[in-house]
Amino acid sequence: MALSKLTDTFRHKGLRNNLIELLRTKGILDDNVLNAMTIIPRHFFFDSSFLEFAYEDKAFPIGSGQTISQPYTVAFQSELLKVEKGMRVLEVGTGSGYQASVLAEMGAKVYTIERQKLLYDNLKLQNPPLSYRIKLFYGDGYAGLPAFAPFDRILITAAAPFIPEALVNQLKTGGILVAPVGKNDVQIMTRVTKLSETEIKTDTHGTFRFVPMLTDKAKDV
Ligand code: SAH
Repeated sequence: MALSKLTDTFRHKGLRNNLIELLRTKGILDDNVLNAMTIIPRHFFFDSSFLEFAYEDKAFPIGSGQTISQPYTVAFQSELLKVEKGMRVLEVGTGSGYQASVLAEMGAKVYTIERQKLLYDNLKLQNPPLSYRIKLFYGDGYAGLPAFAPFDRILITAAAPFIPEALVNQLKTGGILVAPVGKNDVQIMTRVTKLSETEIKTDTHGTFRFVPMLTDKAKDV
């Protein structure tokens, strides 16, 4: 890895500040989200050959056919999730680790699951360095992490064909789950609030495009 990849220069910070201003103009209001995204160097999560793309408001390939989500999408999902300091948050779809890092910077204790072994291994090797508040798991997000439940918040960062019941079961009462739901090219951003053991409330927040949440077993490659 080139040393320059993990150097956060004034130029990077300047580009990041511009990106955060852009997110504000696009309607992101939550200062906790914007502050965390101002602090986390998104270019740490890119291959060093593509650093110049890190501060555009675009998704980008990260290998294994996956993408790091668009900054606006990360901000939008983080805002919908209403994360507070000290909350236990489960993320499905670790990918580059960027979204998990934003949640950790907001003060959450993050448990994140990835089904692609290569992406998981890459992060396990601390490339990039992750916060001590993030626990990485290799496995299937449809099953969640029953051994670590319940969670205050659950965030799915891949297109879910439906809301997995196992995940709703792992939410605390009063907890919130955010997921892009849809089987086709476009998904509906959906927020589920668990009102009681048996009742949920659902609200929707526009359309987005995510890579699919894969239904087969976690692969080794
Ligand atoms: N949150 C990521 C971007 C997610 S892209 C980031 O900040 O970079 C979606 C990720 O979900 C991909 O890495 C993909 O491999 C993973 N994924 C897809 N299906 C999954 C499943 N069933 N369980 C866990 N992870 C899954």
